[in-house]
Amino acid sequence: MTPTPRTVAVIGGGIAGLAAAHDLAVAGCAVTVLETTDRVGGKLRMGEVGGVSVDLGAESILARRPEGLDLVRDVGLSASTENPRTLSASIWTHGGLRTMPPSVMGVPADLAALVASGIVSRSPAARAVPVPDHDVSVASFVEQRLGREVVDRMIEPLLGGVYAGHADRLSLRATAPQVEALGPDLVAGAAATWAERADRPLSPVFFAPTGGVGTLPEAIVAAGRFDVRTGATVRAVERTVDGWRLTIGPTTAMEALEVEAIVVATPAPAAARLLHDVAPRAAFALAGIEYASVGIVTFVLDGAFEPEGSGFLVPAVDGTAIKGATFSSSKWQWSRDAAAGRTLVRTSIGRAGETLLLQHDDTTLIDLARADLAAATGSVGHVVDALVHRWGGALPQYDVGNLDVVDTIERDVASVEGLEICGAAYRGVGIPATIGTGRAAAARLLARETMDA
Ligand SMILES: Cc1cc2nc3c(=O)[nH]c(=O)nc-3n(C[C@H](O)[C@H](O)[C@H](O)COP(=O)(O)OP(=O)(O)OC[C@H]3O[C@@H](n4cnc5c(N)ncnc54)[C@H](O)[C@@H]3O)c2cc1C
Repeated sequence: MTPTPRTVAVIGGGIAGLAAAHDLAVAGCAVTVLETTDRVGGKLRMGEVGGVSVDLGAESILARRPEGLDLVRDVGLSASTENPRTLSASIWTHGGLRTMPPSVMGVPADLAALVASGIVSRSPAARAVPVPDHDVSVASFVEQRLGREVVDRMIEPLLGGVYAGHADRLSLRATAPQVEALGPDLVAGAAATWAERADRPLSPVFFAPTGGVGTLPEAIVAAGRFDVRTGATVRAVERTVDGWRLTIGPTTAMEALEVEAIVVATPAPAAARLLHDVAPRAAFALAGIEYASVGIVTFVLDGAFEPEGSGFLVPAVDGTAIKGATFSSSKWQWSRDAAAGRTLVRTSIGRAGETLLLQHDDTTLIDLARADLAAATGSVGHVVDALVHRWGGALPQYDVGNLDVVDTIERDVASVEGLEICGAAYRGVGIPATIGTGRAAAARLLARETMDA
């Protein structure tokens, strides 16, 4: 009979680890979060540019899935959230900012509206092709049915925005199941989805805590009943007779921690190293997951420049340095208030495999991003300040066959008592999906222990 675990170590203090820690602590476990950097949050992080508070990582949470809203409610933040002031997004292509026509993840719901947007040069020759019974790349699925131009100018910019990835590599089933669900005739499927949406009351698509998504990690810690140790790199984990021994800290001052269960909430490369001996099949699969690195260049501009809409995305085939821009002070009221009459814009740079661009120094990246921004919008006026934040190993790439890889990992981990994993490497990189993996890991651990009891 194994009682509910009394001591659990969560390795990695990103949003997945914090969500797991929260639920385990609520269930009565003594939880310690071990985080290698000097702060929790991982890809959720606040910073300052020109004296203005900004999100340096994730800046928006999908409200159409419950996990983000639920966690925000559970830590008492619901009353201080907001929805974007505008959702109108554009594609910068063919020499201008062109409003996105109605689409489902880039699949147009109306070909006439797509052509009128100027995003494509001519109406695609749409074909109905049966949906395959195996995973394929998003690009090949859409190209067969709508041609390459729709892939390049509608699908790729969206996947570049979410995954910093390429449609030719990314798995349809793992990254765009809603596109697969449209069926053989993609435009008919997208049109039906839009018609269905029109019958429902409008609900907000995105939200953020007022003050920034990067404020959420500290709110979880403040609401939680768990310990956090920052500057604590977990170097190794090993099984003991009744639990786990963790080796923590620099090689010159290593320390051991004994707990009954562990949740590995790090990105895949660190998880692969940690699980090498205890779950070798999972470790091997984890080691094969590639990551894209990205850079965020945030500008504080004088108030003369006030862009409309929430921002724009750029097709990779257009060869620009930036792959998108968010007009933060137009999009979020909290950001507008923080900017106090100035304008905040964040641009993002870097797709999977594009390592050279991010090797430029900060000044060059700022110049490249500013030039693109000016070309897209006409003029950006005076730059009051700019900041480059590099995210190495930012986003896992869900290549074709990813769901099988994740199944292998999860099966191997499930065979090891007192071990769970969670994070953006499994079943969704967005914040709600990532929170979902953390909460599910906590629930599995508690259920396993209760079943054993
Ligand atoms: C620039 C950027 C913008 C994004 N924008 C959005 C957005 O607007 N909306 C959205 O939904 N998603 C967005 N995402 C994606 C989302 O933010 C991430 O997928 C998610 O936050 C990942 O959370 P995680 O907990 O899995 O991993 P991480 O945030 O990577 O956390 C893992 C933690 O583990 C720690 N760690 C690693 N190794 C060890 C070790 N050995 N010992 C101890 N600790 C360790 C790391 O330091 C890190 O803090 C964005 C991502 C990036 C990079």
